[in-house]
Amino acid sequence: MLKRAIENKKVVNSYLFLGNEGIGKKQVALQFAKALNCLKEERVDACDHCLSCKKIDRAFHPDVLLIEPIGQGIKKEQVTQMQRELAYKPYEGKRRVCILTAADRMAHDIPNTLLKTLEEPPLHTVIILLANNSRFILPTILSRCQPIRFNPLPISLVSKWLMESKGLEETEAHLLASLSDGSPGKALEIQEEIRQIPREELLKDWVGLKSLSFEKMGSWVESLPSQRENLLLMLEVAKTLLRDLVIVKTLKKEPKLIHSDLLQVMEPLAANWSLSSLLNRMEILHHTALAIKGNANTSLALEAMMLSWAEG
Ligand SMILES: [Zn+2]
Repeated sequence: MLKRAIENKKVVNSYLFLGNEGIGKKQVALQFAKALNCLKEERVDACDHCLSCKKIDRAFHPDVLLIEPIGQGIKKEQVTQMQRELAYKPYEGKRRVCILTAADRMAHDIPNTLLKTLEEPPLHTVIILLANNSRFILPTILSRCQPIRFNPLPISLVSKWLMESKGLEETEAHLLASLSDGSPGKALEIQEEIRQIPREELLKDWVGLKSLSFEKMGSWVESLPSQRENLLLMLEVAKTLLRDLVIVKTLKKEPKLIHSDLLQVMEPLAANWSLSSLLNRMEILHHTALAIKGNANTSLALEAMMLSWAEG
């Protein structure tokens, strides 16, 4: 879409890139800035070799401004500083490109300031706002930008990228990709944490175990991470373990598992279960994760989950 805009000379003044964290919005915005300023003529893409492309790659092109949040979000001074720069013509590039990451996390007094710039865009300037969620952006800002949606990537693509660009083994790449929500950045971010999770133990002694003693349940709840985000990731892993058990239970031949390294452990466990109780346990887990995401008290939510698990 962006290449076509360059080709047809239809590049607009402001874009809004929308999509999950780590999905590649910033990379695409920088690549677009390179393509707009590339010194090789007749290209709708960046050559990656000219002086301009190299400067943008090394983050010292004077006409490409990357504004990233300081602390909790973007500060007003950052935006007013940007606006001061915009008063001048680009120094050396064909177009000035301002990339405002985290446009959904701006201080509350910024949108009105920013709106003025979006309403009267300076010449030779492209402003790109990046956001995970359009819900936190004022409609007046939204209406001034051309939205470009970044959809989650297929698991196979994330997995391929992890193997080819990051040198990961297939099993780990597939596991991380499956838990990444289609975001390569998230896959990398959770890598260390996933390595720390004792998946086999989790499966054998907890999620895959049919009869749980109350004592054991209590000790599991206590051993779970206290930080909400880590806990949610752990629950997500537990969910994929249950999902794999369902697959092992239903597809006898060469099941395609997320935790393919645990197939041997899963087979005897799956035999103990009925499909409906597995699905039931999965659903309870899913609702617990949703409740915790929605800020429910974590220990209460977990205890309720364990009780429902014990019942059915
Ligand atoms: Zn170039």
